[in-house]
Amino acid sequence: MIKENHPLSEDRSNLKKKIFSVVVSVYNEEQALKECYTEMKRVLDTLSWDHELIFVNDGSSDGSLEVLKALASEDQKVKLISFSRNFGHEAAMIAGLDYSTGDGVVCMDADLQHPPECLPRIIRAFEEGNEVISMVRTRNKSAGLIKNITSSGFYWLINRISDVHFEPNASDFFAISRSVAEVLKGNYREKVRFLRGYVQNVGFQKTTLEYEAGVRVAGESKYSLKKLFIFSVNTILCFSNMPLKLGIYAGILSGAAGMAVLVYTLFTRQGAPSGYATIVVLICFMFAMMFLLIGIIGEYIAILFTELKDRPVYIVRETANIEHN
Ligand code: UDP
Ligand code: MG
Repeated sequence: MIKENHPLSEDRSNLKKKIFSVVVSVYNEEQALKECYTEMKRVLDTLSWDHELIFVNDGSSDGSLEVLKALASEDQKVKLISFSRNFGHEAAMIAGLDYSTGDGVVCMDADLQHPPECLPRIIRAFEEGNEVISMVRTRNKSAGLIKNITSSGFYWLINRISDVHFEPNASDFFAISRSVAEVLKGNYREKVRFLRGYVQNVGFQKTTLEYEAGVRVAGESKYSLKKLFIFSVNTILCFSNMPLKLGIYAGILSGAAGMAVLVYTLFTRQGAPSGYATIVVLICFMFAMMFLLIGIIGEYIAILFTELKDRPVYIVRETANIEHN
């Protein structure tokens, strides 16, 4: 007969420990990975929850994969998912969520800009019953003035033209409960997407915690201003139909202007201002507006086309320490 104080009973109580899944996206982070692992592990080992550390290698072309394989062979709690090519940060976070098994999941960067010191606060927030924890940057030490201004401008615009509310300064550092992760896994499989937009709008009990973004430990930022611009345009198109309505507004506006000129001409019996310059300027202006509107419609069609093709969000080439999926 197994007595209560048998070593197995302690194992059983360990089994009941909740699991915290930490998803880290990695793209050419060879120099940062060792420090990232050590720092995260230092904090994770002090927590009351057990953990799994899921590294998603997003098609790195440096030695990141080798470093990750070595970590996975030394530590069973390190899980590795490696993509066949670079699919982007968002795809990496989605893969991490798909493969996570924990009661709570947090997405973090590999460059330690999301401080591991925040993890105990996140666990506390989970234990208080929160299911969506958005981490809000108070200050981003390494982002330049231009990045900070464009980021504020982007959030100002999207909050004006979308029904969905976006938390300004919310980063891609967020934590969600198992039930929220299941919702994202099952229902938010769009190909053109903005993960933190979904996270902020799935509902559930939500809280925000503040953190100060640190400086990158090594390597350099993978997000150029051009990449950020494309990302912002896609997000606006995915979360707002307002640009599609611009055509209607422009039509009403130019119709009203035409009517005004007509009325003026009829009543004053004078010709409208004439001349080469007026006509050329008007034609250029009208065509510019038309091409712009066609371009906007084209962008929406491009998104529809991408969704229709239904290509995979990511392709996994190899994994380590993963038992399921
Ligand atoms: N990242 C990724 N795939 C990419 C670009 C970036 O997985 O195509 C990862 C990168 O390794 C890092 C995180 O996403 O862990 C954030 O990237 P980065 O630090 O370059 O962005 P920033 O902090 O400058 O906005
Ligand atoms: Mg970074």
